[in-house]
This record gives sequence, structure tokens and C-alpha cells, in this order.
Amino acid sequence: MFVAVAGMNLGLAEDLDIGGKRVARGSRADFDLPVAASSDPATSIPVTVFHGAEPGPRILISAGIHGAEYVPVLAVQRLLSQIDAARLKGTVIIARVAHLSSFLRATVYYNPHDHKNLARVFPGSASGTQSERIAYVFTNELLKNADALIDLHGGDATESLHPFVGVYGGELAAKQYPLAKRIGLALGIPTLVRYRMDTKAQVDGNGRSPNRQAVADGKATVLVEVGDRGRRDPKDVEMLTSGLVNVLRVLHMLPEAGKPEPVPDVRWIAETASVASTKTGIFYPLKEAGMDVRKGELAGYVTDLLGKTIEELRAPADGVILYMPYAPPLNEGPSSPLVVGIPSKPE
Ligand SMILES: [Zn+2]
Repeated sequence: MFVAVAGMNLGLAEDLDIGGKRVARGSRADFDLPVAASSDPATSIPVTVFHGAEPGPRILISAGIHGAEYVPVLAVQRLLSQIDAARLKGTVIIARVAHLSSFLRATVYYNPHDHKNLARVFPGSASGTQSERIAYVFTNELLKNADALIDLHGGDATESLHPFVGVYGGELAAKQYPLAKRIGLALGIPTLVRYRMDTKAQVDGNGRSPNRQAVADGKATVLVEVGDRGRRDPKDVEMLTSGLVNVLRVLHMLPEAGKPEPVPDVRWIAETASVASTKTGIFYPLKEAGMDVRKGELAGYVTDLLGKTIEELRAPADGVILYMPYAPPLNEGPSSPLVVGIPSKPE
């Protein structure tokens, strides 16, 4: 919160310092935030900061944590021309391509150097491998300067995905939940998943994502998933760009008023159920994300390399498929689950 005190100097003290780069109030800066070399090569996070003329909410928007999820990267590029720091209230920090080496090499899920999933190594380490160093810089230079994180993802090249927003609540995020919910609804994406973070074990998960790190650091936290099977559908890019602009309007950061909230016809999901293949082979989908399924319904099957069926993937609950495998290669284990959202009452 910003509290103006009579007679206080509102000059330099209000500049923002990110990785040694100073950004004055009312100005925009585009720069590459360095991630130093260690056991593997150096990289950087391309960042744009709009440090508004007036104080207000500080929002971090990140795209490209997973390098082959393209709609968010294209949407934030379009968002850049729609914010004017001189007329902005608050601060918008945009990690335009958070995982640059993965993006440029078009690797799915994993860093091309250390083969780790950037979304499982937070808060990272200054002396770790490249994924860990990116996470460290992200946490300590970007997330640190924000009140809220909007982390943008989509269906990777191997995934069928139905667009949805995830807002983080539960005991460990109770104070931040109202802001997260406000942001989530303002995005205008009609499927909204409410994640509960009640224990540290949940925050740590199977390796921390940037979202769980944001919860641990007391930030309002929103996950956005838009874009199907590594595609770049212009309608998806437009939906995400206009949703992000509406967030800034609803938070009164832009001069224009936002659309009324809550957005009508939102499908709320308070619980998800997932199942993953226990076999490696060739996947044949029979359903796709966005379809309603009944518990036990066959959503796809896995064959061996000769074509013999060795596994059936069945819906673990009644609900809507949020995402599921799509590509023929499927590995056993939790990296490519079938996830069903179970509809609930609005919260
Ligand atoms: Zn992702």
C-alpha cells in the first residue's frame, strides 16, 4: 500500500529499481534482465516496465514460463501498445518471454540446458542450473516488486487445452484472494478454477511453480491458460489481450472504466481431478479439452509402438476436461495428465 505523508519527497524514492535498472514514475523501460552464466550458459528475461505517473496496484504479468505456449507471448506483445505510463495508475511489469532459451529452441515443458521444468524449481537459486537461476531472478527482481502475479500459460504443442483462469485462495492466500478473484473475473474467460492453498505442503507441491511462490510471498495470484496444442489462434490472442486490458481498467489503473464485474455466465470449479498414463507409448485421444465427461468415460488410449492397446485413460470424475494429452508421444507419469474440472457454486 502507498501512503503519502505530508511534505514527503515524492522524487527519486519513487523510482523503481529492477536488477539495477531504474525506472522513473510516468515512464516505460524495455530491457533484458540478465541471468548470469554458471555451470550452463547465461540468459536473460526480456522485461517491459510501465511505472505509472501515479501510485496504485503493482501487477506482474508473465508469459512464456513454458517456451512452447505461444498465445501469451503474442498477447503481451500486443498489450505493450495499450498502456501509457504517463496515464497509468500503478505499475505493470511484464516478463515478455520468461523462459527465453526454451522459447527460442521451441522446447516443450523443459529447459534446453538442464532439462528441468521452470515451473517446478521456484524460488530457484543464484548458483543453480539455468532454470533455477531464471526462477531466482524472477522471484527476487520481478515478483518482489509486485502485489499480484498474473502468470500466463496455454496448451503446449502436446496438449489439448480449454481456456480457464485459476485464482489462488485457501488459508494461506485468504487475504489476497479478493484481489485475485477480481483479476480472475475481469479477464472475461468463462471457466474459473479456485485453487486452495491451505498448507505449506500444497504450496511446495511437487516442486514450486511461480504461482505457488507468489502465494508463499503473499501476492494475489492468478493463473491463466489460453491457447490450444501449441497453436496461435488470433481469436485466443485477442481474448487474452482484451482480458488483460480489462483487468487494468477494473483495477482503475487505466483512465477508461472497466466492464462491470463479475463477468456473467462464469463456470466455477472448486476442485479438479486428474489421471496420468502409467504406460509410455502412442496416445490416441477420443475426447478433447472443453468436453463434458462422466466419471469412467474413455477419453483416450495408449498403444505400444506396434499398435496394441496397453492403457486406457478414463475420466476420473464427472466434469469438464480442462486439459489432456493430444500428441502421439506420451510418457508415463504426471507430466501429461488428463485433468477434469468439477463444476461448483460460485465462491
Ligand atoms: Zn505452461
